[in-house]
Amino acid sequence: MDTVEIFDTTLRDGEQSPGFSMNREEKVKLARLIEELGVDILEAGFPIASVYELSARFPRPEPFVHWRIPKDQPAARPRLHMFLATSDLHLKHKLRMTREEALDQITTMMRFARKHCQEIEFSAEDASRSDMDYLCQVIQAVVECGATVINLPDTVGYSTPAEYAEMFRLVRARLGERPDVILSAHCHDDLGLAVANSLAAVQAGVRQLECTINGIGERAGNAAIEELAVALHVRQNFYGVATHLRLEKLYPASRMLSSITGVNVPPNKAVVGANAFAHEAGIHQDGILKNPLTYEIMSPESVGVPARRLVLGKHSGRNAFRARLADLGFETTDAELAELYTLAIARADMEKEITDRDLIAIIHQVRRHASPAPSSSGPATTAAR
Ligand code: MN
Repeated sequence: MDTVEIFDTTLRDGEQSPGFSMNREEKVKLARLIEELGVDILEAGFPIASVYELSARFPRPEPFVHWRIPKDQPAARPRLHMFLATSDLHLKHKLRMTREEALDQITTMMRFARKHCQEIEFSAEDASRSDMDYLCQVIQAVVECGATVINLPDTVGYSTPAEYAEMFRLVRARLGERPDVILSAHCHDDLGLAVANSLAAVQAGVRQLECTINGIGERAGNAAIEELAVALHVRQNFYGVATHLRLEKLYPASRMLSSITGVNVPPNKAVVGANAFAHEAGIHQDGILKNPLTYEIMSPESVGVPARRLVLGKHSGRNAFRARLADLGFETTDAELAELYTLAIARADMEKEITDRDLIAIIHQVRRHASPAPSSSGPATTAAR
């Protein structure tokens, strides 16, 4: 099966967004987990010091830098990432260059980069808003200079899936048969389309996806690695490509990033949100208990969400239930707790232990019996009804 390479930019695009800066130790700690996650390329960021550090410690993924060229290259397969904007908007108002001047600068920097590094990625910033003829001209030139990865970012999150895919189809057609050149997608989430655009790009032949843990990044963020990973896995029959990712590391990576930065993901976030596998509606709980496939397209365990179990023994008291329920976001009254305890013990007699899922089902059962009015103290939930 064809493979899509996963390029993690949590430490560069993610780290440069407000509230997400990390110190060196934190970056190294997170990089270790990103490596375990099985990403193919790790973008180590701008600061030269952290690149040296990460390159030395993590030879397997391919750390690389923007613009600046290290004097020595400790990484096993270093890659240099060069970029310049290609849209008229950026050329005119930001760079104050003509198209010709930009093309000239691009080829100059590419030739320079090629002398220092075998593997060069070129990013055409704001590619999705660039003139397609000019963009193709630039791509042709950088490929001739030796670029092997062509990244065409939707820098401002403006594109739609159909448009973004069309751009790659057109570029591929103009470029001709070039198995040595990998096309890459880099999407931002300003319209909430970063993941959808990335997946559309895969359908158009893109074989590298740039993404971040928890979707962090400039403004509304980048495509979220956990969402891309599960979409490509759960719908592999549709996309027909594999990745090297170890899905069970997705949740631990998400948690580590949150704990390092102090920024939590919203509860309804796909895959890693607190409610991603929570079921509140009674009919959903009933289905889940009979067969999880009724309302779950993947198991929480498959993405590393721990299957926390509350083991009941002779010495388990009500406080254990109360504490666990509080962890799950439910404050319980004494009356609720008394009824819940009786029901839970009855279930534990049959099943020896009860899971968080059982516990949530029981608290809802108790509350449905107690009052038809919606409960005030349960956690917010987005379960579809
Ligand atoms: Mn970006």
